[in-house]
Amino acid sequence: MLSCKDLRKHCVELRRCYTRRRGLLTLAIETSCDDTSVAILDTFTNADLATNRKDVINSARLLFHKTVTADNSIHKGIHPVTALKSHRVNIGDLVQQAISCLPTFSFNDRIPSATKTLWGGQDGQLRRKPDVISVTRGPGMRSNLAVGLDVAKGLSLAWNIPLIGVHHMQAHALTARLISALNNEDSKPAFPFLSLLVSGGHTLLIKSMSVFNHVILASTADIAIGDCLDKAARYILPEDELIAPFGKALEDYAFKEDSNYEHVAPQNRMQELEVRHTGYGWHLNAPMREGRGGRSSERMEYSFSGLLSALGRVVDSRQDIPYKERQALARHVQIRAFEHLCGRLLLYFKSISKSEVDQLQTVVVSGGVASNHFLRHLLRSMLDSRGYHQIRLVFPPVEFCTDNAAMIAWAGTETYREGKMSGLSIEPIKEWSIDSNAEDGGILGAPGWIDV
Ligand code: AMP
Ligand code: ZN
Repeated sequence: MLSCKDLRKHCVELRRCYTRRRGLLTLAIETSCDDTSVAILDTFTNADLATNRKDVINSARLLFHKTVTADNSIHKGIHPVTALKSHRVNIGDLVQQAISCLPTFSFNDRIPSATKTLWGGQDGQLRRKPDVISVTRGPGMRSNLAVGLDVAKGLSLAWNIPLIGVHHMQAHALTARLISALNNEDSKPAFPFLSLLVSGGHTLLIKSMSVFNHVILASTADIAIGDCLDKAARYILPEDELIAPFGKALEDYAFKEDSNYEHVAPQNRMQELEVRHTGYGWHLNAPMREGRGGRSSERMEYSFSGLLSALGRVVDSRQDIPYKERQALARHVQIRAFEHLCGRLLLYFKSISKSEVDQLQTVVVSGGVASNHFLRHLLRSMLDSRGYHQIRLVFPPVEFCTDNAAMIAWAGTETYREGKMSGLSIEPIKEWSIDSNAEDGGILGAPGWIDV
């Protein structure tokens, strides 16, 4: 027999199914850097009974999601021509595989009109045609973006469905909303929320107010945090432990015997900036420790090149560094980099009122570096130690944090639901700010948007 609790749960689920409607089906393509990725995302909506506003997406299903990464192993980083070749070689096959995963019709289904169906895949089954095509339009390498964009235009023309040119960083910023929909929840976090995008190419603290309205609160003045950690790993790790991704290798090496993290989060900004002696005759300073007039810099900016140079000087000044000392170097460089990351978040919280902090509620942490367990631990303990227990930290699964087409599908879906699609004349954009106040006007500042 069902308990009251189970019955209530059952009723909620029933109500959810009852109000559930089919949303958009999108085929998405991502080719901005060295990952060729294709996805098919199906979404479902329900009427927002509480506010009577337009339907909200309350669940999503990924019908296909595959990524092929260019093999750059013989180069010291991403090689544009290698990446471009990989896109050209792989895109056709990935799209063909994706088409064969579009929903089919069973004998009992009401078959929609011929314009909504297509004979797809090698099995020749009758399938549902996507409602829209989403594709990364920028920012990124122009020729690489063009591979995906041209294929997307072809599909949009052939199937006579809308094209949506997606902003890559907007897609990263909205990823946490995709994850909640994939978990059968209404898309969350609600706006406004903050994101820390920490990857091989970016270090950004962003405030998102709506699908199109984002503000960059801090970005790096020099190298990205992932780049810093990769180069630090090259300095510190012995050859046989230097396995890609180098940031992960550095984490594993540093915390091999310290999985409980003995490090205590600094309780205030003074402690954050203090010189920390290591017992090995060297120390690494906090980035941007010195501002104008000898005061610590409170500029809303990140900087990691000074930390990396300091590390380089320590390593170069020593010969045959023993294992324990190398481990200490690996730990200290991560502590300083991650405290710096969180420090700017705390400075932002300090600059706004308590009610504004309470309104924000969520910080989404994404990008390859977000998979670092010590970073996760340190962010939580630094926020707690400064009284921000109520701030929720959200870490989307790693496969959705690095470049992928699922996030492009989601951003395309949200864009179309907000009433925007792209014209067929759109071109790839190398540099395109996500910030609505930027000179280029941010996401909607680009030419080619059409009101749906
Ligand atoms: P992305 O640019 O988002 O694809 O992320 C790649 C970056 O994330 C590279 O710099 C990696 O070294 C870094 N990365 C991956 N795993 C980790 C980890 N566990 N800790 C720190 N950095 C990592
Ligand atoms: Zn990216």
